[in-house]
Amino acid sequence: MVRDLEAFKAWLIRCGAEILAPTSMWEVLRVRTFSGVHVVHRNRKGRQRWPDGLVEIADLFLDGGNPALSPTARTRRSSHLRQRYPVLRARDGAGCFYCGSFVPAPDDAYLPDYEPTVEHLVPIAHGGPNHLSNTFLAHKRCNNIAGNLSAVEKITLREKMREAKNGQ
Ligand SMILES: [Zn+2]
Repeated sequence: MVRDLEAFKAWLIRCGAEILAPTSMWEVLRVRTFSGVHVVHRNRKGRQRWPDGLVEIADLFLDGGNPALSPTARTRRSSHLRQRYPVLRARDGAGCFYCGSFVPAPDDAYLPDYEPTVEHLVPIAHGGPNHLSNTFLAHKRCNNIAGNLSAVEKITLREKMREAKNGQ
């Protein structure tokens, strides 16, 4: 994990990301990148909660990478997503893990809410592995709704979303 937050922030800025003002005392970091706005929260005990999207970016930082993170660099999808999308689609089909609707390929035209993401069933922030067995395709919107829920809560959410859809 990132130990030197100031060095991480400086690196984010060098890579084109925008550091935004925190909106509450519980926000340790709020940053806008090509993959959206990511927020690191801390709890009363000082424990930090990192969203998966930012964990992926932090991995690049820890590896000494120099990616283009600018919010306008929308064509630069993460190589992780490009690699995983065809593999996950071949394994599970192109349905979103949550809502079951079609998830477009990284380079296809799409509405921002329906952008493809790689969902970690057990969040990386909770010690989940980045292994294929822990990953699924999901819309950005659905992935955001799930946030940092536990695996059990995610499966409950998936059932609810599919029920709601079938009830329409
Ligand atoms: Zn979905």
